[in-house]
Amino acid sequence: MLEIKDLYANINGKDILKGVTLNIPAGEVHALMGPNGAGKSTTSYTLAGREGYNVTSGSVTLDNEDILPLSPEERAAKGIFLAFQYPLEIPGVSTLNFLKTALNAQRQTRGEPELDAVQFLKLVRETAKKLNVTEEMLKRPLNVGFSGGEKKRNEILQMALLKPKLAILDETDSGLDIDALKLVAEGVNALRAPDRSFLVITHYQRLLDFIVPDRVHIFANGRIVRSGDKTLAHQLEAEGYEGLIGKAA
Ligand code: ADP
Ligand code: MG
Ligand code: MG
Repeated sequence: MLEIKDLYANINGKDILKGVTLNIPAGEVHALMGPNGAGKSTTSYTLAGREGYNVTSGSVTLDNEDILPLSPEERAAKGIFLAFQYPLEIPGVSTLNFLKTALNAQRQTRGEPELDAVQFLKLVRETAKKLNVTEEMLKRPLNVGFSGGEKKRNEILQMALLKPKLAILDETDSGLDIDALKLVAEGVNALRAPDRSFLVITHYQRLLDFIVPDRVHIFANGRIVRSGDKTLAHQLEAEGYEGLIGKAA
């Protein structure tokens, strides 16, 4: 599914990614952990194709297709989804309208016809019901006044509608209470599928008690320095980054 090979990238000429290599097979959930400033978010933005993140060498393929020449919109249409650490609050735009725009942008880039209002409402209502997103939440302005849990529910709804091949959750668990954390985990677990992969970036082993990852990678100084199974997260909790990877942290 996703293959990153020896990826180097900079921001404003400052080298941040220094040889990232990572393979996520279809259907797997991989966790990425590591100290602040290691380059985890830079990795997710580079995968999403955000402006200002310059790849200088290495490769990234999704289902064997080189995605580096593609725009952020084209990558999203190919199935890359990035959930935000701090969800945007957009006062003038209802959640419903936001979701419709996101979904139709994806369809348009894919050359598929846009959904009309009736088709869209049917789809979103069915999906929202399954995820316990209320009609009232859908009508409110995007994320404005939403609780942490409601924002997460909304993000999971967005993911469920866009049906990504690769979903990247970048510290989407930061600042969440245990109930909201479980909600994120339930959402991810419900959306696990043989043709969908997840990259879950987190500081906390806690989340990985609920989303059991197939692999855990430790990121330090711009690359992955250690990989293992789910027990690596427990080891990290016990030993800390320095204990586990020494001066590389
Ligand atoms: P992490 O997500 O692992 O905490 P980041 O990817 O956010 O780390 O940051 C990695 C490094 O890149 C840090 O040293 C950070 O200061 C730097 N960095 C991030 N964004 C920018 C930017 N827009 N301009 C310059 N440096 C940046
Ligand atoms: Mg950080
Ligand atoms: Mg980060």
